[in-house]
Amino acid sequence: SPPSHRPPELQLRDVFIAVKTTRIFHRSRLELLLDTWVSRIREQVTRPHLVVTNCSAEHSHPALSCKMAAEFDAFLASGLRWFCHVDDDNYVNPKALLKLLKAFPPTLDVYVGRPSLNRPIHASEPRPHNRTRMVQFWFATGGAGFCINRKLALKMAPWASGPRFVDTSALIRLPDDCTVGYIIECKLGGHLQPSPLFHSHLETLQLLGAAQLPKQVTLSYGVFEGKLNVIKLQGPFSSEEDPSRFRSLHCLLYPDTPWCPQLEAQ
Ligand code: UDP
Ligand code: MN
Repeated sequence: SPPSHRPPELQLRDVFIAVKTTRIFHRSRLELLLDTWVSRIREQVTRPHLVVTNCSAEHSHPALSCKMAAEFDAFLASGLRWFCHVDDDNYVNPKALLKLLKAFPPTLDVYVGRPSLNRPIHASEPRPHNRTRMVQFWFATGGAGFCINRKLALKMAPWASGPRFVDTSALIRLPDDCTVGYIIECKLGGHLQPSPLFHSHLETLQLLGAAQLPKQVTLSYGVFEGKLNVIKLQGPFSSEEDPSRFRSLHCLLYPDTPWCPQLEAQ
């Protein structure tokens, strides 16, 4: 048989997961993640574990693009096979993530996530001589998480590495997650691979059935249209003890966790 050039089967340690956060959320959000899903895959989450950026601590397009650039550069430096971005209000199910990523043939360029809109977004791209061109592209919601394989990430570098990501984002005057879609679809001719397994708190999370929860790659929680938007899950913790429901979900996925109520021994 011809020599095989297939890379070894994908493992979680080949996946780089960057969690975007900011100082004010270290207590309120990051601790929850460290206690739950991050504890299961510590190695994978932003190596070295905490990257302190010089990005300004505000919820502005340039500040958030500056953080996405730092995540992207840390991934390029890591040499790993997949880059996944999530926010600090996402739960990542590592097993479901690995299953999803494993299914992509290694020869493809892959950008996978939840489309932010049900149609492409339009942007005006400045051209030479004071002209502009209208472009349209799909992009994955940053708040639901998305992944890009190394093959594609390397092609993105001319628009995304170092200071260039912030420049690209400023050029089209759109947030960081839109900028990722713009680079991949408009500059590289790639396509967002839509996946319904990524979730942000911009969708009605209660609609997910209990049996579906363990299959989802990411989940989230937050306030949407003035109401608490969380997954619907019975126990083991009450809504007061576990408002995000992430601790209850974690006990469902990993019942052997020391702080999960242990089942009675027979
Ligand atoms: N964030 C940040 N700097 C800020 C505000 C938010 O890095 O000044 C991060 C935050 O930690 C989270 C993401 O940006 O990972 C989205 O923030 P948030 O969930 O508060 O807002 P949303 O856009 O979901 O409404
Ligand atoms: Mn959020």
